[in-house]
Amino acid sequence: MKTVTNTSSREAPFPLEISQLNAVESVRRVGPLSRSDIAERLSYSRSKITVVVGDLIDTGILEEVGDGTSTGGRRPRFLDFKADFGYVVGVDLGASSLDIAIADFKGHILDRKYMPSDVRDGPDAILALIRNIIIDRLDYLDIPPTKIYGIGIGVPGPVEFSTGLLIAPPIMPGWEAFPIKAFFLETFPSAVVIVDNEVNVMALGELRGGAGKNEENFLFVKIGTGIGCGIVCNGQIYRGSNGCAGDIGHICADQNGTTCHCGNVGCLEAMAAGPAIAGLAAKAALARNSAILAKYLEIRNGELTAEDVGAAASEGDRVANEIIRDSGRMIGEVLASLVNFFNPSLILIGGGVSHIGHQFLASIRRGVLHRSLPLSTRHLRIDTSPMGPDAGVNGAIALALEHVFVAAS
Ligand SMILES: [Zn+2]
Repeated sequence: MKTVTNTSSREAPFPLEISQLNAVESVRRVGPLSRSDIAERLSYSRSKITVVVGDLIDTGILEEVGDGTSTGGRRPRFLDFKADFGYVVGVDLGASSLDIAIADFKGHILDRKYMPSDVRDGPDAILALIRNIIIDRLDYLDIPPTKIYGIGIGVPGPVEFSTGLLIAPPIMPGWEAFPIKAFFLETFPSAVVIVDNEVNVMALGELRGGAGKNEENFLFVKIGTGIGCGIVCNGQIYRGSNGCAGDIGHICADQNGTTCHCGNVGCLEAMAAGPAIAGLAAKAALARNSAILAKYLEIRNGELTAEDVGAAASEGDRVANEIIRDSGRMIGEVLASLVNFFNPSLILIGGGVSHIGHQFLASIRRGVLHRSLPLSTRHLRIDTSPMGPDAGVNGAIALALEHVFVAAS
């Protein structure tokens, strides 16, 4: 294990007066605005907004762009981020893939690179790979590394958000307390580096630019190798006191179930995630209970995936359908408890397993409705994540953007 030094949270590159911060955030959230638009949103006087915006133009953060439509009198000038003011990087580090994007301060992706990778190769190899990809893409875009002001990183393990350190990550051997922030600061000294659990990052992606845009309280449930849940409460990511809120994979779904890798019995993850679905299907194939699953097992050389089970179900295989229904029901029943407790307006289902067929989503919905109070489900929508695999990298960009500017203390 590496020693943990110099990883305490770094000051953001741009500490701003609160009035400047509010103006910058307005432009970042809404897009180009006139001085009077900003003044109206923030209830600032005309003279105050003139000073605030003037300072932001002087420091090179905002610039005047184009002419607005006149409502009588002089046409208002719009304010936007200065085109080459700076950039951010979003990294979605999955168990078996890497998704890296470079974006401007409006959140527009300028370049994106996706590739398979194995997080078990450890932090030295994986982080060096990420750094080299970023440098290569910046070179291509002709952007110096000192112009990177924020790096947001989603990782597939529990993160102590205040320090950005992974704590006992079950599928990331060697990553425990590795100083990820310090690693990137060596190459990108102007950047604020923010590390968060991947599910929180995906929820943030949906909150800022996806189906959660107009929702104050919603859940993002990722179902893949594991099961995790990002919580949006009052329009903010809720991380709990240590950063591990939403770790729903280890809620007990069956007292008599199989043993989980965490050591407990019947965890939702052990009973209903991708490996459980694939494992049950392989068992049925070997027991000759399903000819279609046996066919897939042979094609795949003895290793089924949840996607294979979905394909078998769509071919009308009864056993595959039952396995998917049971998985969806168990997830739905655990989500019902969360619905009763939290009363969200929306649950988004994401992750690789979310695409194994309509039967899966239908079973989750049934499980939730069956066990929830009528008032809590009256306006509840349960849908597959529309951003899908883009939620992670977009969320990582949003994470970076939201930490570049802070109020000066
Ligand atoms: Zn467990």
